[in-house]
Amino acid sequence: MRKTKIVVTIGPRSRDLKTIKEFIKEGVDVFRLNFSHGDKNYHKENIEKIRKVSYELGKIVGILQDLSGPKIRIREVKEPFILNPGEILEIYKEPILGEKIGDKAKISLDHPEILEVLKDKDLIFLADGLIKTRVIKKDLEKIVAEVLQGGVISSRKGVNFPFAEIPLPALSKKDRKDLEFGLRTGVDFIALSFVREKKDIIYAKKLIKDLGKDVPVFAKIETQKAFENIDEIIEVSDGLIIARGDLGVELPVEKVPVIQKILVKKAREAGIPVIIATQMLTSMINSTMPTRADVSDIANAVFEGVDALMLSDETAIGKYPIEAVKVMKKVIESAEQIYEYKWEQHTHISSDFAIAYSSCILAEEIKAKAIVVFTKSGASAKRVAKFRPKPIIIANVHDEEILRRLKIFWGVYPYMVLSEREEMESMVKEFIKKANEENLFKESDILVATMGYPVGKIGSTNLIKVIEVCQYLPQSK
Ligand code: PGA
Ligand code: MN
Repeated sequence: MRKTKIVVTIGPRSRDLKTIKEFIKEGVDVFRLNFSHGDKNYHKENIEKIRKVSYELGKIVGILQDLSGPKIRIREVKEPFILNPGEILEIYKEPILGEKIGDKAKISLDHPEILEVLKDKDLIFLADGLIKTRVIKKDLEKIVAEVLQGGVISSRKGVNFPFAEIPLPALSKKDRKDLEFGLRTGVDFIALSFVREKKDIIYAKKLIKDLGKDVPVFAKIETQKAFENIDEIIEVSDGLIIARGDLGVELPVEKVPVIQKILVKKAREAGIPVIIATQMLTSMINSTMPTRADVSDIANAVFEGVDALMLSDETAIGKYPIEAVKVMKKVIESAEQIYEYKWEQHTHISSDFAIAYSSCILAEEIKAKAIVVFTKSGASAKRVAKFRPKPIIIANVHDEEILRRLKIFWGVYPYMVLSEREEMESMVKEFIKKANEENLFKESDILVATMGYPVGKIGSTNLIKVIEVCQYLPQSK
Protein backbone atom coordinates (compact mmCIF):
# COMPACT_ATOMS: atom_id res chain seq x y z
CA MET A 1 0.00 0.00 0.00
CA ARG A 2 1.16 3.52 -0.81
CA LYS A 3 2.76 5.35 2.12
CA THR A 4 3.12 8.89 0.75
CA LYS A 5 -0.20 10.71 0.69
CA ILE A 6 -1.71 12.79 -2.12
CA VAL A 7 -3.38 16.17 -1.62
CA VAL A 8 -5.27 17.80 -4.50
CA THR A 9 -6.46 21.36 -4.79
CA ILE A 10 -10.04 21.54 -5.90
CA GLY A 11 -10.80 24.25 -8.45
CA PRO A 12 -12.91 25.19 -11.47
CA ARG A 13 -11.53 22.24 -13.45
CA SER A 14 -12.20 19.64 -10.80
CA ARG A 15 -15.20 20.60 -8.70
CA ASP A 16 -17.77 18.57 -10.60
CA LEU A 17 -19.05 15.39 -8.95
CA LYS A 18 -17.59 13.16 -11.64
CA THR A 19 -14.04 14.44 -11.20
CA ILE A 20 -14.30 14.37 -7.39
CA LYS A 21 -15.45 10.77 -7.64
CA GLU A 22 -12.53 9.89 -9.90
CA PHE A 23 -10.10 11.56 -7.50
CA ILE A 24 -11.35 9.55 -4.55
CA LYS A 25 -11.36 6.34 -6.56
CA GLU A 26 -7.77 7.02 -7.59
CA GLY A 27 -6.87 7.28 -3.92
CA VAL A 28 -6.65 11.01 -3.23
CA ASP A 29 -6.23 11.35 0.53
CA VAL A 30 -6.91 15.02 1.20
CA PHE A 31 -8.69 17.80 -0.69
CA ARG A 32 -7.35 21.34 -0.32
CA LEU A 33 -9.71 24.29 -0.57
CA ASN A 34 -7.85 27.44 -1.52
CA PHE A 35 -9.56 30.36 0.22
CA SER A 36 -7.61 32.92 -1.83
CA HIS A 37 -10.24 32.22 -4.48
CA GLY A 38 -13.98 31.66 -4.44
CA ASP A 39 -16.74 32.74 -2.10
CA LYS A 40 -18.36 30.86 0.78
CA ASN A 41 -21.01 29.33 -1.37
CA TYR A 42 -18.42 27.97 -3.78
CA HIS A 43 -16.48 26.32 -0.96
CA LYS A 44 -19.62 25.08 0.76
CA GLU A 45 -20.68 23.31 -2.42
CA ASN A 46 -17.23 21.78 -2.79
CA ILE A 47 -17.22 20.48 0.79
CA GLU A 48 -20.70 19.02 0.40
CA LYS A 49 -19.76 17.28 -2.82
CA ILE A 50 -16.55 15.82 -1.38
CA ARG A 51 -18.33 14.50 1.70
CA LYS A 52 -21.19 13.09 -0.35
CA VAL A 53 -18.94 11.17 -2.73
CA SER A 54 -16.69 10.01 0.08
CA TYR A 55 -19.68 8.48 1.92
CA GLU A 56 -21.07 6.94 -1.24
CA LEU A 57 -17.77 5.27 -2.03
CA GLY A 58 -17.11 4.37 1.61
CA LYS A 59 -13.67 5.98 1.39
CA ILE A 60 -12.31 8.34 3.99
CA VAL A 61 -10.86 11.64 2.80
CA GLY A 62 -9.71 14.73 4.66
CA ILE A 63 -10.45 18.36 3.81
CA LEU A 64 -7.84 21.06 4.30
CA GLN A 65 -8.86 24.70 4.45
CA ASP A 66 -6.05 26.95 3.20
CA LEU A 67 -6.46 30.50 4.56
CA SER A 68 -4.93 33.38 2.58
CA GLY A 69 -3.16 35.02 5.52
CA PRO A 70 -1.28 38.31 5.04
CA LYS A 71 -0.77 37.93 1.30
CA ILE A 72 -0.67 41.27 -0.45
CA ARG A 73 -2.13 41.69 -3.91
CA ILE A 74 -2.43 44.33 -6.61
CA ARG A 75 -5.88 45.86 -7.00
CA GLU A 76 -7.63 45.80 -10.35
CA VAL A 77 -5.85 47.13 -13.43
CA LYS A 78 -7.63 48.51 -16.52
CA GLU A 79 -5.95 45.91 -18.70
CA PRO A 80 -2.79 43.79 -18.34
CA PHE A 81 0.38 45.70 -19.26
CA ILE A 82 4.08 44.96 -19.66
CA LEU A 83 6.68 46.53 -17.40
CA ASN A 84 10.16 46.80 -18.85
CA PRO A 85 13.47 47.25 -17.03
CA GLY A 86 14.21 50.91 -16.37
CA GLU A 87 10.53 51.95 -16.36
CA ILE A 88 8.79 53.47 -13.35
CA LEU A 89 6.10 51.87 -11.19
CA GLU A 90 4.11 54.09 -8.84
CA ILE A 91 2.26 52.40 -6.00
CA TYR A 92 -0.53 54.56 -4.58
CA LYS A 93 -1.91 54.45 -1.05
CA GLU A 94 -5.46 55.27 -2.15
CA PRO A 95 -7.25 52.64 -4.26
CA ILE A 96 -6.91 53.43 -7.96
CA LEU A 97 -7.53 51.53 -11.17
CA GLY A 98 -4.09 50.48 -12.33
CA GLU A 99 -2.82 51.43 -15.79
CA LYS A 100 0.28 52.23 -17.80
CA ILE A 101 0.76 55.47 -19.68
CA GLY A 102 3.98 55.78 -21.68
CA ASP A 103 6.82 54.36 -19.65
CA LYS A 104 5.13 55.00 -16.31
CA ALA A 105 2.71 52.62 -14.63
CA LYS A 106 0.57 53.11 -11.57
CA ILE A 107 -1.16 50.60 -9.33
CA SER A 108 -2.49 50.28 -5.79
CA LEU A 109 -2.54 47.40 -3.29
CA ASP A 110 -5.22 45.70 -1.24
CA HIS A 111 -3.12 46.38 1.90
CA PRO A 112 -1.63 49.88 1.49
CA GLU A 113 -0.37 49.78 5.12
CA ILE A 114 2.73 48.05 3.82
CA LEU A 115 3.81 51.23 2.01
CA GLU A 116 4.36 52.97 5.35
CA VAL A 117 7.12 50.59 6.38
CA LEU A 118 9.00 50.51 3.05
CA LYS A 119 12.36 52.23 2.92
CA ASP A 120 14.50 53.58 0.14
CA LYS A 121 16.14 50.77 -1.92
CA ASP A 122 13.77 48.08 -0.56
CA LEU A 123 12.96 45.38 -3.10
CA ILE A 124 9.41 44.66 -4.19
CA PHE A 125 8.63 41.55 -6.21
CA LEU A 126 5.45 41.19 -8.24
CA ALA A 127 3.69 38.46 -10.20
CA ASP A 128 5.27 35.43 -8.49
CA GLY A 129 8.66 37.06 -8.40
CA LEU A 130 8.87 37.52 -12.12
CA ILE A 131 8.95 41.29 -11.83
CA LYS A 132 11.56 42.86 -9.57
CA THR A 133 11.47 46.52 -8.58
CA ARG A 134 13.31 48.77 -6.12
CA VAL A 135 12.03 51.74 -4.13
CA ILE A 136 13.63 55.01 -5.25
CA LYS A 137 11.28 57.61 -3.74
CA LYS A 138 8.49 57.99 -1.23
CA ASP A 139 5.98 60.78 -0.74
CA LEU A 140 2.70 61.22 1.12
CA GLU A 141 0.49 59.64 -1.50
CA LYS A 142 2.69 56.93 -3.07
CA ILE A 143 5.99 55.18 -3.39
CA VAL A 144 7.96 55.20 -6.62
CA ALA A 145 9.92 52.14 -7.72
CA GLU A 146 12.18 51.47 -10.66
CA VAL A 147 11.76 48.25 -12.60
CA LEU A 148 14.84 45.99 -12.46
CA GLN A 149 13.32 42.97 -14.13
CA GLY A 150 10.20 43.16 -16.26
CA GLY A 151 7.05 41.16 -16.89
CA VAL A 152 3.29 41.36 -17.22
CA ILE A 153 1.11 43.01 -14.56
CA SER A 154 -2.52 42.01 -14.30
CA SER A 155 -5.27 42.35 -11.68
CA ARG A 156 -4.90 40.65 -8.28
CA LYS A 157 -1.32 39.47 -8.84
CA GLY A 158 0.62 38.74 -5.65
CA VAL A 159 3.25 41.13 -4.33
CA ASN A 160 6.14 40.08 -2.07
CA PHE A 161 8.21 42.28 0.22
CA PRO A 162 10.89 39.82 1.34
CA PHE A 163 12.80 42.24 3.54
CA ALA A 164 10.01 44.25 5.15
CA GLU A 165 8.24 43.68 8.46
CA ILE A 166 4.71 43.23 7.15
CA PRO A 167 2.41 45.28 9.41
CA LEU A 168 -0.56 42.96 9.05
CA PRO A 169 -2.14 40.49 11.49
CA ALA A 170 -1.65 36.76 10.85
CA LEU A 171 -5.33 36.44 10.04
CA SER A 172 -7.24 39.24 8.34
CA LYS A 173 -10.91 39.90 9.01
CA LYS A 174 -11.70 37.78 5.96
CA ASP A 175 -9.45 34.96 7.20
CA ARG A 176 -11.24 34.98 10.55
CA LYS A 177 -14.62 34.79 8.84
CA ASP A 178 -13.37 32.03 6.55
CA LEU A 179 -12.01 30.14 9.53
CA GLU A 180 -15.31 30.34 11.34
CA PHE A 181 -17.08 29.13 8.22
CA GLY A 182 -14.59 26.28 7.76
CA LEU A 183 -14.95 25.08 11.32
CA ARG A 184 -18.71 25.27 11.13
CA THR A 185 -18.76 23.33 7.86
CA GLY A 186 -16.43 20.72 9.28
CA VAL A 187 -13.00 20.95 7.64
CA ASP A 188 -10.36 18.57 9.01
CA PHE A 189 -7.22 20.71 8.81
CA ILE A 190 -6.48 24.42 8.68
CA ALA A 191 -3.45 25.80 6.82
CA LEU A 192 -2.25 29.30 7.49
CA SER A 193 -0.42 31.13 4.68
CA PHE A 194 2.45 33.57 5.12
CA VAL A 195 3.23 32.53 8.67
CA ARG A 196 6.11 34.60 10.08
CA GLU A 197 6.49 33.49 13.65
CA LYS A 198 5.16 31.22 16.36
CA LYS A 199 2.71 33.90 17.49
CA ASP A 200 0.77 33.59 14.22
CA ILE A 201 0.00 29.92 14.81
CA ILE A 202 -0.80 30.51 18.49
CA TYR A 203 -3.25 33.22 17.42
CA ALA A 204 -4.96 30.91 14.92
CA LYS A 205 -5.18 28.18 17.53
CA LYS A 206 -6.71 30.54 20.04
CA LEU A 207 -9.39 31.58 17.53
CA ILE A 208 -10.14 27.91 16.88
CA LYS A 209 -10.36 27.17 20.58
CA ASP A 210 -12.61 30.16 21.18
CA LEU A 211 -14.94 28.72 18.55
CA GLY A 212 -15.07 25.51 20.56
CA LYS A 213 -12.99 23.39 18.16
CA ASP A 214 -9.68 21.63 18.14
CA VAL A 215 -8.67 21.32 14.48
CA PRO A 216 -4.96 20.86 13.61
CA VAL A 217 -3.16 23.89 12.18
CA PHE A 218 -0.51 23.57 9.46
CA ALA A 219 2.01 26.37 8.97
CA LYS A 220 2.69 27.21 5.33
CA ILE A 221 6.36 28.04 5.16
CA GLU A 222 6.73 30.60 2.41
CA THR A 223 8.46 33.64 3.88
CA GLN A 224 12.00 34.42 4.82
CA LYS A 225 10.86 35.17 8.36
CA ALA A 226 9.21 31.77 8.73
CA PHE A 227 12.39 30.06 7.67
CA GLU A 228 14.40 32.07 10.20
CA ASN A 229 11.89 31.21 12.94
CA ILE A 230 11.31 27.62 11.90
CA ASP A 231 12.19 25.97 15.22
CA GLU A 232 9.70 27.98 17.25
CA ILE A 233 7.06 27.55 14.53
CA ILE A 234 7.49 23.77 14.56
CA GLU A 235 7.05 23.78 18.35
CA VAL A 236 3.46 25.03 18.05
CA SER A 237 2.34 23.72 14.63
CA ASP A 238 0.55 20.47 13.89
CA GLY A 239 2.23 20.21 10.51
CA LEU A 240 4.17 22.09 7.83
CA ILE A 241 3.43 22.85 4.22
CA ILE A 242 6.52 23.74 2.24
CA ALA A 243 4.97 26.32 -0.09
CA ARG A 244 7.68 26.39 -2.71
CA GLY A 245 5.96 29.01 -4.88
CA ASP A 246 6.19 32.01 -2.61
CA LEU A 247 9.24 30.57 -0.88
CA GLY A 248 11.13 30.79 -4.16
CA VAL A 249 10.12 34.43 -4.49
CA GLU A 250 10.99 35.46 -0.94
CA LEU A 251 14.28 33.57 -1.00
CA PRO A 252 16.63 32.85 -3.91
CA VAL A 253 15.06 30.12 -6.01
CA GLU A 254 18.20 27.98 -5.86
CA LYS A 255 17.72 27.75 -2.11
CA VAL A 256 14.32 26.03 -2.43
CA PRO A 257 15.63 22.43 -2.58
CA VAL A 258 18.03 23.14 0.27
CA ILE A 259 15.29 24.63 2.44
CA GLN A 260 13.01 21.72 1.55
CA LYS A 261 15.62 19.26 2.84
CA ILE A 262 16.17 21.20 6.06
CA LEU A 263 12.44 21.61 6.74
CA VAL A 264 11.60 17.99 6.01
CA LYS A 265 14.31 16.84 8.39
CA LYS A 266 13.15 19.17 11.15
CA ALA A 267 9.47 18.25 10.75
CA ARG A 268 10.25 14.55 10.76
CA GLU A 269 12.41 14.87 13.86
CA ALA A 270 9.57 16.71 15.59
CA GLY A 271 7.12 14.03 14.46
CA ILE A 272 4.77 16.43 12.67
CA PRO A 273 3.55 15.83 9.12
CA VAL A 274 5.14 17.71 6.23
CA ILE A 275 3.54 18.41 2.86
CA ILE A 276 5.45 19.50 -0.24
CA ALA A 277 3.50 21.95 -2.36
CA THR A 278 3.64 23.80 -5.67
CA GLN A 279 4.94 22.91 -9.10
CA MET A 280 5.07 19.18 -8.47
CA LEU A 281 3.65 18.43 -11.90
CA THR A 282 3.50 21.77 -13.68
CA SER A 283 4.25 20.06 -16.98
CA MET A 284 0.89 18.30 -16.73
CA ILE A 285 -1.18 21.48 -16.58
CA ASN A 286 -1.34 21.44 -20.37
CA SER A 287 -0.06 18.02 -21.28
CA THR A 288 -0.75 14.40 -20.46
CA MET A 289 2.98 13.69 -20.40
CA PRO A 290 5.06 14.90 -17.43
CA THR A 291 8.62 16.11 -17.80
CA ARG A 292 11.31 13.87 -16.38
CA ALA A 293 12.24 16.73 -14.07
CA ASP A 294 8.75 16.82 -12.51
CA VAL A 295 8.71 13.08 -12.08
CA SER A 296 12.14 13.14 -10.44
CA ASP A 297 11.04 15.93 -8.11
CA ILE A 298 8.12 13.80 -6.89
CA ALA A 299 10.35 10.76 -6.44
CA ASN A 300 12.94 12.77 -4.51
CA ALA A 301 10.30 14.06 -2.12
CA VAL A 302 9.28 10.43 -1.54
CA PHE A 303 12.91 9.49 -0.86
CA GLU A 304 13.08 12.33 1.67
CA GLY A 305 10.22 10.65 3.52
CA VAL A 306 7.66 13.44 3.33
CA ASP A 307 4.13 12.71 4.48
CA ALA A 308 2.27 14.12 1.52
CA LEU A 309 2.60 15.75 -1.89
CA MET A 310 0.23 18.42 -3.05
CA LEU A 311 -1.10 19.29 -6.49
CA SER A 312 -2.23 22.88 -7.01
CA ASP A 313 -2.85 24.36 -10.46
CA GLU A 314 -2.47 20.87 -11.90
CA THR A 315 -5.82 19.83 -10.44
CA ALA A 316 -7.48 23.23 -9.86
CA ILE A 317 -7.16 24.77 -13.31
CA GLY A 318 -5.13 22.27 -15.32
CA LYS A 319 -6.49 20.42 -18.32
CA TYR A 320 -5.71 16.96 -16.97
CA PRO A 321 -6.55 16.77 -13.25
CA ILE A 322 -7.20 13.02 -13.12
CA GLU A 323 -4.21 12.17 -15.27
CA ALA A 324 -2.01 14.27 -12.97
CA VAL A 325 -3.19 12.29 -9.94
CA LYS A 326 -2.64 9.02 -11.78
CA VAL A 327 0.90 9.99 -12.71
CA MET A 328 1.67 11.21 -9.21
CA LYS A 329 0.41 7.97 -7.74
CA LYS A 330 2.46 5.83 -10.10
CA VAL A 331 5.62 7.84 -9.45
CA ILE A 332 5.11 7.60 -5.69
CA GLU A 333 4.56 3.85 -5.86
CA SER A 334 7.61 3.38 -7.99
CA ALA A 335 9.81 5.49 -5.73
CA GLU A 336 8.55 3.76 -2.60
CA GLN A 337 9.86 0.46 -3.92
CA ILE A 338 13.35 1.61 -3.11
CA TYR A 339 12.47 3.72 -0.06
CA GLU A 340 15.14 3.21 2.58
CA TYR A 341 13.48 2.25 5.83
CA LYS A 342 16.32 3.42 8.01
CA TRP A 343 16.42 2.55 11.67
CA GLU A 344 18.11 5.36 13.40
CA GLN A 345 19.00 4.82 17.00
CA HIS A 346 16.53 6.75 19.11
CA THR A 347 17.56 7.60 22.62
CA HIS A 348 16.06 9.83 25.28
CA ILE A 349 12.57 9.57 23.91
CA SER A 350 9.47 9.71 26.08
CA SER A 351 7.67 6.50 27.01
CA ASP A 352 4.94 7.30 24.46
CA PHE A 353 7.47 7.47 21.65
CA ALA A 354 9.37 4.48 23.04
CA ILE A 355 6.21 2.36 22.75
CA ALA A 356 5.75 3.48 19.15
CA TYR A 357 9.40 2.85 18.37
CA SER A 358 9.33 -0.58 20.00
CA SER A 359 6.25 -1.57 18.05
CA CYS A 360 8.15 -0.79 14.84
CA ILE A 361 11.15 -2.86 15.90
CA LEU A 362 8.94 -5.73 16.98
CA ALA A 363 7.00 -5.58 13.71
CA GLU A 364 10.23 -5.76 11.76
CA GLU A 365 11.58 -8.66 13.83
CA ILE A 366 8.52 -10.84 13.47
CA LYS A 367 7.75 -9.65 9.92
CA ALA A 368 4.35 -8.33 10.90
CA LYS A 369 1.93 -7.51 8.12
CA ALA A 370 0.72 -4.36 9.85
CA ILE A 371 1.03 -2.27 12.96
CA VAL A 372 -2.50 -1.85 14.25
CA VAL A 373 -2.99 1.16 16.46
CA PHE A 374 -6.04 1.52 18.69
CA THR A 375 -6.07 5.19 19.51
CA LYS A 376 -8.49 7.70 20.96
CA SER A 377 -6.87 10.98 19.91
CA GLY A 378 -4.91 9.60 16.96
CA ALA A 379 -1.64 10.58 18.61
CA SER A 380 -0.35 7.01 18.89
CA ALA A 381 -0.72 6.49 15.15
CA LYS A 382 1.24 9.69 14.51
CA ARG A 383 4.00 8.54 16.81
CA VAL A 384 4.32 5.21 15.02
CA ALA A 385 4.37 7.02 11.66
CA LYS A 386 7.30 9.12 12.85
CA PHE A 387 9.54 6.05 12.70
CA ARG A 388 8.54 5.23 9.12
CA PRO A 389 8.10 1.48 9.58
CA LYS A 390 7.88 -0.87 6.62
CA PRO A 391 4.51 -2.43 7.50
CA ILE A 392 1.40 -0.34 7.00
CA ILE A 393 0.02 1.42 10.08
CA ILE A 394 -3.66 0.69 10.54
CA ALA A 395 -5.46 3.13 12.80
CA ASN A 396 -8.71 2.36 14.60
CA VAL A 397 -10.39 5.10 16.54
CA HIS A 398 -13.66 5.97 18.27
CA ASP A 399 -14.55 9.01 16.29
CA GLU A 400 -14.81 9.77 12.58
CA GLU A 401 -13.22 13.21 12.81
CA ILE A 402 -10.05 11.70 14.23
CA LEU A 403 -10.05 9.08 11.50
CA ARG A 404 -10.08 11.77 8.80
CA ARG A 405 -7.27 13.72 10.43
CA LEU A 406 -5.02 10.68 10.18
CA LYS A 407 -5.34 10.75 6.42
CA ILE A 408 -2.37 13.09 6.02
CA PHE A 409 0.20 10.94 7.83
CA TRP A 410 2.85 8.90 6.09
CA GLY A 411 1.99 5.20 6.07
CA VAL A 412 -1.16 5.53 8.15
CA TYR A 413 -4.24 3.79 6.89
CA PRO A 414 -7.18 5.15 8.89
CA TYR A 415 -9.41 2.11 9.06
CA MET A 416 -12.45 2.09 11.33
CA VAL A 417 -14.53 3.73 14.00
CA LEU A 418 -14.90 1.09 16.68
CA SER A 419 -18.22 0.66 18.40
CA GLU A 420 -16.50 -1.08 21.30
CA ARG A 421 -14.94 1.51 23.56
CA GLU A 422 -14.22 -0.27 26.78
CA GLU A 423 -12.96 -3.77 26.40
CA MET A 424 -9.54 -4.44 24.88
CA GLU A 425 -10.08 -7.96 23.55
CA SER A 426 -13.47 -7.05 22.07
CA MET A 427 -11.89 -4.14 20.20
CA VAL A 428 -9.35 -6.47 18.64
CA LYS A 429 -12.09 -8.91 17.70
CA GLU A 430 -14.22 -6.16 16.18
CA PHE A 431 -11.29 -5.01 14.07
CA ILE A 432 -10.26 -8.48 12.88
CA LYS A 433 -13.85 -9.29 12.00
CA LYS A 434 -14.10 -6.32 9.64
CA ALA A 435 -10.60 -6.91 8.29
CA ASN A 436 -11.46 -10.53 7.50
CA GLU A 437 -14.71 -9.58 5.82
CA GLU A 438 -12.67 -7.30 3.61
CA ASN A 439 -9.88 -9.83 3.10
CA LEU A 440 -7.27 -7.47 4.44
CA PHE A 441 -5.09 -10.27 5.81
CA LYS A 442 -4.20 -13.86 5.20
CA GLU A 443 -4.77 -16.50 7.88
CA SER A 444 -1.05 -16.82 8.44
CA ASP A 445 -0.46 -13.09 8.98
CA ILE A 446 0.93 -11.73 12.19
CA LEU A 447 0.18 -8.19 13.37
CA VAL A 448 1.59 -5.94 16.03
CA ALA A 449 -0.99 -3.90 17.94
CA THR A 450 -0.57 -1.00 20.34
CA MET A 451 -3.23 0.29 22.68
CA GLY A 452 -3.83 1.97 25.97
CA TYR A 453 -4.92 0.16 29.08
CA PRO A 454 -7.31 1.01 30.64
CA VAL A 455 -8.98 1.58 27.29
CA GLY A 456 -10.18 5.00 26.16
CA LYS A 457 -7.97 7.23 28.23
CA ILE A 458 -6.05 9.75 26.12
CA GLY A 459 -2.29 9.52 26.41
CA SER A 460 -2.21 6.07 27.91
CA THR A 461 -0.75 3.93 25.12
CA ASN A 462 1.26 1.48 27.16
CA LEU A 463 0.69 -1.90 25.62
CA ILE A 464 2.10 -3.82 22.66
CA LYS A 465 0.45 -7.02 21.61
CA VAL A 466 1.26 -9.61 18.98
CA ILE A 467 -1.82 -10.79 17.12
CA GLU A 468 -1.93 -13.97 15.09
CA VAL A 469 -4.79 -13.52 12.65
CA CYS A 470 -5.55 -17.27 12.64
CA GLN A 471 -6.39 -17.22 16.33
CA TYR A 472 -9.23 -14.85 15.72
CA LEU A 473 -10.88 -16.75 12.92
CA PRO A 474 -14.17 -18.45 13.61
CA GLN A 475 -13.55 -22.08 14.62
CA SER A 476 -13.93 -24.34 11.62
CA LYS A 477 -16.13 -27.35 12.30
P1 PGA B 1 -0.41 29.37 -2.57
O1 PGA B 1 0.72 28.74 -1.65
O2 PGA B 1 -0.74 28.37 -3.60
O3 PGA B 1 -1.51 29.64 -1.63
O4 PGA B 1 0.25 30.60 -3.07
C1 PGA B 1 1.62 27.81 -2.14
C2 PGA B 1 2.97 28.40 -2.49
O5 PGA B 1 3.21 29.59 -2.32
O6 PGA B 1 3.81 27.59 -2.89
MN1 MN C 1 1.83 30.91 -1.37
